[in-house]
Amino acid sequence: MRLPSRSLPLGTDNNMEEKIGLFGGTFNPIHIGHLRVAQEVLENFELDKIIFIPSALPPHKQTHLMTDIEDRLEMIRLSIQNCPESEVSDVELRRSGRSYTIDTVRHFKSVLPDANLYFIIGMDAFLEIDAWKSYQDLFSLISFIVMARPGTGDKIDRVMLENYLQTRISEEYRFSTSDMAYVHPEKQPVFGINVRPLDISSSAVRELIRQNKSVRFLVPQAVEKFIKNKGLFYGEKQ
Ligand code: ATP
Repeated sequence: MRLPSRSLPLGTDNNMEEKIGLFGGTFNPIHIGHLRVAQEVLENFELDKIIFIPSALPPHKQTHLMTDIEDRLEMIRLSIQNCPESEVSDVELRRSGRSYTIDTVRHFKSVLPDANLYFIIGMDAFLEIDAWKSYQDLFSLISFIVMARPGTGDKIDRVMLENYLQTRISEEYRFSTSDMAYVHPEKQPVFGINVRPLDISSSAVRELIRQNKSVRFLVPQAVEKFIKNKGLFYGEKQ
């Protein structure tokens, strides 16, 4: 889907600027679900690039079970080594303390002032966004691309998403059929996309490893090898 120019974020007046997707997550570990949905977003929104951003200390996850960020970064690097449109950022590793998306987005806005930035997020995570630090500012700063995810429906429920935006973020969000997005007079648009439903999660991958089962074809081969060599996730408690 080519985004009509009027649906681009505020301040955009032509289609020549780079369109960059910021894909944040714990990636503990990265799996085929992450990679495939990123590919579909890249193609459908005609992005120039997707930057994977593993969080160092995610505020909403149990950090004592978190694999070292260096290892999570390396598994992303191994996964995208043949994908010229993908990059990985260690920005959250370089910042001390908790990882807040608002700080990451501000960082990319300052280093990429001319790019159109989109924050890529699965529906499960999006439905908890009103618990994130400075989430109102986030909606003013960056457009969102919300991906359907099994567990929260194989397809985006347009009414449910609109209801969530209106009750939890701002009642002025409206679905615009011409923009194919939820638009707001002051905030950035929110796009939805029905990616191919892939019921794969990092927790399912970790659980298989704990049970001494194979994760072949759920993670890239190089990641499977890395996990084995480093003995990651074995014997981990839930
Ligand atoms: P865990 O099982 O540990 O909670 P996860 O598989 O959800 O991990 P994250 O790294 O937390 O992986 O996810 C990063 C982002 O990718 C989130 O926005 C999440 O919704 C999205 N995502 C992950 N897997 C999928 C998938 N299979 N389909 C669509 N979105 C996904």
